[in-house]
Amino acid sequence: MTWEEARDAAGPGSVAILPVGAIEAHGPHLPLETDVIIAQAMARSGAARLAARGSSVVVLPPLTYTAAAFAQGFAGTLSLRPETVTATVLDIARGLARHGFGVLAIANAHLDPGHLASLEAAVSAVRRDLGLAVAFPNLAAKPWALRLSDEFRSGACHAGQFETSMVLAERPELVRDATRAALPPNPASLSRSIRDGKQSFEEAGGARAYFGFPAQATAEEGRATIELLGALLDEAVQAELGARTGQVK
Ligand SMILES: [Zn+2]
Repeated sequence: MTWEEARDAAGPGSVAILPVGAIEAHGPHLPLETDVIIAQAMARSGAARLAARGSSVVVLPPLTYTAAAFAQGFAGTLSLRPETVTATVLDIARGLARHGFGVLAIANAHLDPGHLASLEAAVSAVRRDLGLAVAFPNLAAKPWALRLSDEFRSGACHAGQFETSMVLAERPELVRDATRAALPPNPASLSRSIRDGKQSFEEAGGARAYFGFPAQATAEEGRATIELLGALLDEAVQAELGARTGQVK
């Protein structure tokens, strides 16, 4: 977009979607930018739903670097300090508020606990300090997590069937498919390990930086999941718009 197009897109009720990913190890079969690819797909899907409702909506360039402490032992992972992430999101939100956008929607696909905490801190600060509405469906938390696949809810939710399916749908040329098809299942629950105080994929039982069932991934499942993630983002935005205007949507 040009700056004049961005100016014209802003206004009360307008929505700016920020895709948030990571540069992080995703098994031996997926690229380091997997979460960026998924976040952009979620943003595009959500934007289509919002535009169909008549909303003015823009998709921002993605935030590609973030906190990824669980994966930092694996080559290629580039992890920011959580406070850097919080400050970056807050500064982006400040710019959006200055230019008159109504809602910041965060399309996030990266579930590292330090990263999620940094986003939650940014969301609180944006609401408190800027008065800007923020939609952030945190997929790792209720009610959103309950809407996702069995594998995801089991906690084996990194580079498994759930994420691999979406990369197969979006960027199949980036999947090392012969490797993927031969990967043994790793049903270890990352979310349980996080609750138990583990600090890395290795400690959580992911020696090759994947969990779940990547061999079962399909592009068809990926397309359905992207539609679902877009619907969740749309719902979160509608809730913010409804809260703002006092209307029931
Ligand atoms: Zn991921």
